[in-house]
Amino acid sequence: MTHLTLQAVTRRFGAAYAVDSVDLSVPDGKLVCFLGPSGCGKTTLLRMIAGLETPTSGSIEFAGRDITRVPANQRDFGMVFQSLALFPHMSVAQNVAYPLKLRKTPKPEQARRIAELLELIQLPHMANRPVTQLSGGQRQRVAIARAIASQPKLLLLDEPLSALDAKLREAMQVEIRLLQQRLGITTIMVTHDQREAMTMADEIVVMEKGRIAQVGKPLDIYRDPVSEFVADFIGLGNILPVTYDGAGAVSLPGGVRIAVSQAARVPESTSDIRLLIRPEDVCVKSATAAAGPNRLAGTVTFIRDVGASLEATIDCAGFTLTAATTPRETPGLALGMPVLAELPPHACKLIAARAVQ
Ligand code: ATP
Repeated sequence: MTHLTLQAVTRRFGAAYAVDSVDLSVPDGKLVCFLGPSGCGKTTLLRMIAGLETPTSGSIEFAGRDITRVPANQRDFGMVFQSLALFPHMSVAQNVAYPLKLRKTPKPEQARRIAELLELIQLPHMANRPVTQLSGGQRQRVAIARAIASQPKLLLLDEPLSALDAKLREAMQVEIRLLQQRLGITTIMVTHDQREAMTMADEIVVMEKGRIAQVGKPLDIYRDPVSEFVADFIGLGNILPVTYDGAGAVSLPGGVRIAVSQAARVPESTSDIRLLIRPEDVCVKSATAAAGPNRLAGTVTFIRDVGASLEATIDCAGFTLTAATTPRETPGLALGMPVLAELPPHACKLIAARAVQ
């Protein structure tokens, strides 16, 4: 069953389209991330779902009911926004109880629910502490508990972790995801952090200039991006201009031919094509290894060795490749070293070049 459906949802501000004809279905119980660069329309789209912004045109349906013009306070959705806005003069328990009070939930039911929620966010021992005396991560958890206190059918999160430092942010990503899965609550989260989206989402909606560029499971989008924009935005990639030679081969700058998998999807317009190969798919071999198809001679010009993983920049004639490996896989790799970079045909994807601005 699909819970939330958007049809041709558009929001203009003056002549500018913040959101442009978005069609989307959000399945029940899933966590969906809106991902894209600053200004692509993520927040505006979320605000329209929340009822804080009215679409210029299009419709939003929730559980079979048209809610396009239903005010936010009648939608029964839980929300957590960038600025948390916990009530600073209240304790943890009082903050969590707030939506229950608004709904005039009976006192014993309130007490039971607060205890349950504090257990869920693992802060039962802090019920009476003022929220001003909590860490950033603890405050985030209280904000989430407050948002789900009234058992909303939909949870909307707008960059809820953006104020946290990197380590805490990563820990909270896992916590929110586990909580969401345990409760089975349909959730939409806005983020501009692709790693965050990959960690948390069942489905990612990649947005570009108010439109949906691609929707799919995180790894499907990573492995099979539909465009240069998506390939570039999700993960690191080597994106090289190539000419399509037909019959499963392309020519790189400088004229070297590369075989691509016969199954490679060739973009409709074959005149402006890019070859995408992810760094972890580039195999670094010794320069003394046998030359062969899809093996390119190059020189190591930069190494980022962070212990567990290693990233090498390889200068081939006319273009540069990034290869991700490990110190164990490529012992002795050093700056200035000649190497062979192998691009396995199955890992070479062909994508349409980004439209010229
Ligand atoms: P960010 O990641 O920076 O928050 P975003 O993807 O969430 O960006 P939006 O905040 O949805 O983007 O903005 C989309 C576009 O609409 C931007 O160009 C923005 O300037 C514009 N916009 C948003 N709100 C308004 C408004 N109230 N009035 C005029 N223009 C607006």
